[in-house]
Amino acid sequence: MIYLDYQATTPVAPEVAKAMHPWIEEKFANPHSPSRWGHEAEAAIEVARKRVEKAIGAKGGSLAFTGSATEALNWALKGTVEKAPKGRNRIITLATEHAAVLDTCEWLAGHGIDLTILPVQPNGRLDLDVLARELDGRVLLVAVMMVNNEIGVTQPISEIARMAHEVGATMLCDAVQAFGRLGIGDGPDLIAVSAHKIHGPKGVGALWMRKGKEPAPFIHGGGQEQGLRSGTMSPALCVGFGAAAKLAEERLTRDYDHVQKLWKAAIHALGPGWIINGCTECRYHGNLNIRREGVDAARLIADLRDIAFSLGSACASGSGRPSHVLRALGLDYREARSSIRLGFGRYTTQQELVEACHRIARAAVEQEKLDA
Ligand code: PLP
Repeated sequence: MIYLDYQATTPVAPEVAKAMHPWIEEKFANPHSPSRWGHEAEAAIEVARKRVEKAIGAKGGSLAFTGSATEALNWALKGTVEKAPKGRNRIITLATEHAAVLDTCEWLAGHGIDLTILPVQPNGRLDLDVLARELDGRVLLVAVMMVNNEIGVTQPISEIARMAHEVGATMLCDAVQAFGRLGIGDGPDLIAVSAHKIHGPKGVGALWMRKGKEPAPFIHGGGQEQGLRSGTMSPALCVGFGAAAKLAEERLTRDYDHVQKLWKAAIHALGPGWIINGCTECRYHGNLNIRREGVDAARLIADLRDIAFSLGSACASGSGRPSHVLRALGLDYREARSSIRLGFGRYTTQQELVEACHRIARAAVEQEKLDA
């Protein structure tokens, strides 16, 4: 199989698997129990916490582990609303956010929050003038992702945070696709990340919280994670996340340069006839979302079963829902249906990527011939 679905998930790094191994095989103590073994597990979690925090790079806050970024985003949104000062009842977000943000915002709207979902420009970027017009003293929270999971387009997070702060609002950044790949901009008060997008294990995410901006407790119980997110923690998952974060930080430039080369090679190998969805420059280049007139993307995937790539959002794949991100760019149904997403990164070789692109291009031409 040629794996080109890095936005859906990433292969676990060998270093991560090795770091996790003792915590699965031998070291089973509860990290919250007072025994020597419990303390050892607790210490390992604290080392991991520091590693994830360091890789995020934000200062003046703390980090809580969660079961996923979806949980971190739910918690950030609901917990901030729970602690909202009187008179602040508005949330502003974007039409291209992940379902973990959009669906939670819709749920909050059903419970009395005044929700504004801003459109994006045809290239996927937020027009900051549009945001400026919406910001006022009633805004509680501005939630914007840094790198889009479907189209890879980046948003100017530091500038958005600055604008949110000017009206006293809190800024939440879904940094799931940016973490470990690009530097996360300075400014957000709440940052959600996930281990499995950076070659770590599935089932663990985290929420970084600026001091004073911690959301209300989300899961009640034994008081773990500063009393904010109860539940026995998994040393194996946290250690794996820490190892993945450390590795991502160490390899940031090397991985970035590799991805830039892969992007160029993929574009060249695909040849003419493809249109890139979303901004070409303001983008993480490990995400190549493209369309071609007349192509049926679902058929392309079915024809090339030994290449793992995606149509629309991987998070919503199987749901049958048309991509809300591609629609937000103004693509019509036919254009969205002829769009595919190739995601590549650290362990993708140029040779396999080029081979896959040649085969995808050939299969698309075959479709055209059959349909002619
Ligand atoms: N946000 C973005 C941008 C994502 O791409 C994803 C997963 O695809 C999530 C949030 C949810 O992350 P998790 O799988 O940790 O729940």
